[in-house]
Amino acid sequence: MINIAVDGPGGSGKSTLAKVIAKQLGILYLDTGALYRAIGYTVLCRIGEEYTEAQVCDLLPSLSVDLRYEENVQHVYVNGEDVSSHIRTQPVAMAASRVSAFPPVRAFLLDLQRDIAARNSVIMDGRDVGTVILPHADVKIFLTARPEVRATRRVAELTEKGIQADFDTVLREITQRDHNDMTRAVAPLKQADDAVLLDNSELNAEETIDAALQIIRSKVAL
Ligand code: C5P
Repeated sequence: MINIAVDGPGGSGKSTLAKVIAKQLGILYLDTGALYRAIGYTVLCRIGEEYTEAQVCDLLPSLSVDLRYEENVQHVYVNGEDVSSHIRTQPVAMAASRVSAFPPVRAFLLDLQRDIAARNSVIMDGRDVGTVILPHADVKIFLTARPEVRATRRVAELTEKGIQADFDTVLREITQRDHNDMTRAVAPLKQADDAVLLDNSELNAEETIDAALQIIRSKVAL
């Protein structure tokens, strides 16, 4: 059993990296951001764009969130409904970032993440995997890149999906989300003391994967 933690800001390529590594090593990939997005999406649907921490907390007991793997792809369910196709939008990303700062939301999702790691070899990506969720992970990577590089990647990703995206707007949202995630009181985005920093501003996807595999091989026998 191995547990690999990959943390870092949005647009650093964590999910691309973790998916490929999971496949190569034959282990599970857990995208923890999808859980926060599922809560963010549900809050937008049930309450709307204006909400308080108390309102979100009141909602939590009525929610059952779970993950299922269908043909090796992670799907996130809220009260039995697969919400995976609704959570990749910018408004949901911003709602996820906001609700993830509420301590009860983090507590609500903690056991689900730990249980999966206890039962499976897994590569998990997020913001606090190496610091809070799996402090004893075998390998911890902190993946990052300059905000301008991350914004350029996000614009390319959106353009490929046929969604028009303005660089300055995307950069502003990335910077805002970095700020929210790094300054929140509970489980802020930060590099764990024993994580290896991988800045891929100057690397392509393949080079990033090679560098990460090197880090993993230096920590565990594969
Ligand atoms: O990784 P992704 O962009 O899908 O995450 C969406 C938001 O969920 C992040 O901006 C962050 O606020 C929150 N998140 C978190 N802790 C995690 C994963 C995501 O707070 N482990």
